[in-house]
This record gives sequence, C-alpha cells and structure tokens, in this order.
Amino acid sequence: MQYRTRFAPSPTGLLHVGNAYSALLCQAWAKTHNAELLLRIEDIDHTRCRSEFADAIIEDLSWLGLRWQSPVRIQSMHLQDYRQAIHQLRDMGVIYPCFCTRKQIQQEIMRMSSAPHAEAVMASYPGTCRKLPANEQHDRMQHEPFAWRLNIDKAMAHIGEDISWRDGSGCVYAVSVEHDVVIGRKDIDFSYHLAVVVDDALQGISHVIRGQDLKESTGIHRLLQKLLGLPEPVYVHHPLLCDQDGERLAKRNGATTLKGLRQTGVDVMKLRDFLTAAESLCWPFGKGNERELLNILGKAR
Ligand code: GLU
Repeated sequence: MQYRTRFAPSPTGLLHVGNAYSALLCQAWAKTHNAELLLRIEDIDHTRCRSEFADAIIEDLSWLGLRWQSPVRIQSMHLQDYRQAIHQLRDMGVIYPCFCTRKQIQQEIMRMSSAPHAEAVMASYPGTCRKLPANEQHDRMQHEPFAWRLNIDKAMAHIGEDISWRDGSGCVYAVSVEHDVVIGRKDIDFSYHLAVVVDDALQGISHVIRGQDLKESTGIHRLLQKLLGLPEPVYVHHPLLCDQDGERLAKRNGATTLKGLRQTGVDVMKLRDFLTAAESLCWPFGKGNERELLNILGKAR
C-alpha cells in the first residue's frame, strides 16, 4: 500500500520554527516510509486567515526544502465538501442547531457546577439547545445565528459499538467524547474537526503526523470518520518544540519566524540540521540572541 501523509498549516500568521520542526518531521516520516507528502492550507476560518500568509507558507516551506505532491489543497476552495458532510450528519439526526452565545454557556455552567476553571468552561457545553422542540428550532433558525453541535449520545447510539483510534506504534486509544462539540461554527459555518476529517479522506491520507497539542482532538476526528463512513488513518503525535522557558513556540508568543530567519541570513541547511537534531526539543535563540543564532546557524561570509 502506498502511504500518504500531509502537512496542514493554517495561514493565520507567518510560519515559525515550531511549524518548521513539525514540517521536517512530516517530511522525514514520509521519506522513511517511502510515502507521498501532501500540503493543505487550512484556511476555513476567514476571520483569522489571510491569503498573503498562505503565499508566505508556500515560500517559506520551499525555502526550508519541503517538497510536496501537487495539487495543494486549499480548504476555502472546497466549502461544498464540508457543507455536504454537515447535510449528511443532519440527515442522520446526530447534530442540532445551537443558538447559545459563549457568555450564556459560561453562565449556565457556572450556575450548574461549582466554578470549574475557565478552559473547562469553554470546552464544555451544558446541553441548553439539545432538547429544543423541532418547531422552535425551525423558527429560530430563520432569524438567529446558530452553530451545529454533535449530539454525542445520539452519535454513539448511531455507531452502536465502542470505537478507538490507533497510533503509529500500534497503541489503541478508546474514544470518549465528553460533550456536544461544535462541528459547524456560527461565524464560519464549519469547524476544524469537520474539515480535517473530510480532507484527510478526500486526500487519501493513510498517516496523520502532527503535534501532540492535537492528540486530544483525535477522538472527535475518529467519531466523525465513523459517522461519515470515512477511512481511518493512523495517527502520530509528535512532541512540540519549546523555548528556553519550556513554553511551546506559538505565533501568539512571537516565536521566531522562518521569514525572519531567512532575512537574518540563516543558512537553511544548518537550520534543517539543527531542527532535525533538536533532541532537547528546545529552540534556544530567543529575542536578543541574534548574534549567537548567527554564530551557530549563519552563512559563512
Ligand atoms: N491546521 C492545524 C494547525 O495549523 C493542523 C491540523 C492537523 O494537522 O490536523 O495547527
């Protein structure tokens, strides 16, 4: 069987060294397994993604030495595929419209429980719209914005058996999804979870190589695959590159960008070697460390 994997960045900013680390791991995995490597631009979130960042991704990855099979899949050009998946789930009766605002959800949870911490509040849903009568749903859908939520109980009943996902070392993880996740957002119609499973299937991805920050979402992905009758890839979640304080590198923390490194005069081969050998999973060149960075990774002049 021909293996196939993908790298799937979101153009919400410039790629940083953490993304580069992930891309290189993906490429190394593909090489070791004689697999095809595909590229996908995950840009369904039009509130955060920008086309100039998508162009910059292609430029930065090319500079890094990543090579992928054509065509690049650009999610915003395939909205019909995600729409069709929502229709399929709606026809199965496993999703329902949710009219709640974030604030209402938060207030309802605070009322029901003894103040869990903020993250848990945002991740959970008290089920307010789960049992709305069909006529009320219908009326409100005509004039109120709504999200689509998966009714986990109905979804599990529909599947009718325990489900699990597998990682690259053969470990099996039981799927248990705690609450009714959003699969169609109010503002952008779809969710990352829905788009990613549709795309992995349409691109024929046999192995998903991605950061371990997404490990928790894999159960939701497996559940959606099962409901939509999509094939099951194998998942490999790699550790994330961190800064000297042990914080994961992220766009919002101002992580070093590939474009910045290129402009500083970094030798891309040295950068690749450094990242590939980064066993300590640490990027030690914080702000103000440019001199050391250039000493180690700079071009010989
Ligand atoms: N687009 C996601 C990100 O940039 C990756 C999604 C995935 O690999 O499943 O974090």
